[in-house]
Amino acid sequence: MRLVLLGAPGAGKGTQAALLKERDGCVHVSTGDIFRQNLKDATPLGLEAKQYMDKGALVPDEVVMKMVSSRLLEPDAMEGFLLDGFPRTVPQAEFLERFLREHGTKLDAVLLFSIDDEILVQRLSNRRTCRSCGGIFNLLTMEGKGTSCPSCGGELFQRDDDNEAVIRNRLKVFHEQTEPLVAWYRERGLLREVDASDAPSAIYERVKAAL
Ligand code: ADP
Ligand code: ZN
Repeated sequence: MRLVLLGAPGAGKGTQAALLKERDGCVHVSTGDIFRQNLKDATPLGLEAKQYMDKGALVPDEVVMKMVSSRLLEPDAMEGFLLDGFPRTVPQAEFLERFLREHGTKLDAVLLFSIDDEILVQRLSNRRTCRSCGGIFNLLTMEGKGTSCPSCGGELFQRDDDNEAVIRNRLKVFHEQTEPLVAWYRERGLLREVDASDAPSAIYERVKAAL
């Protein structure tokens, strides 16, 4: 399967990607995760991306396009991929379409996770990530005190960009720059919409039904 997961920050793209990956074994390409890993390793790419991420702004198209295309050219991605966080602008979508065509392939579908902004602010400000296994949790719904990971015991932390001011800006950027992709993919007959205002397991059932 070659899928794009489209939706606002906090809509649950990463969580659903993890479930789909388990089922299908396709490669999960999260541009946000790649930037965060680069930042952790203090690479030039990571340091450049940080300036934008800290403000909730988008990293420039050329930087992201280069990064994604080199990732998709790695052998494991040929069989299938889940793109999570890319494309986020119309030029990125045009680039992806051209890139796939040049490599003799195309997308199977684009999953749109729809959800209300206020729920997203709630979710993102209560989101915690495990430093050891990368698991994503929510303080409001998880068991325990929220300091250690329920599945591996690792340390939980809050992402730098999950604070309210930055969250509001990420949502604004989503509506202005990413939402136009909904119509763009609908015109191409690729869009499948999923209501994302539920628990991950319920959303996953809808995802399977949509595919
Ligand atoms: P979110 O929870 O906002 O969806 P991500 O982890 O996908 O977060 O991305 C974090 C940040 O990385 C974004 O706010 C943006 O600065 C940068 N980023 C990720 N993907 C892209 C992209 N396709 N184009 C531009 N910037 C990106
Ligand atoms: Zn963990």
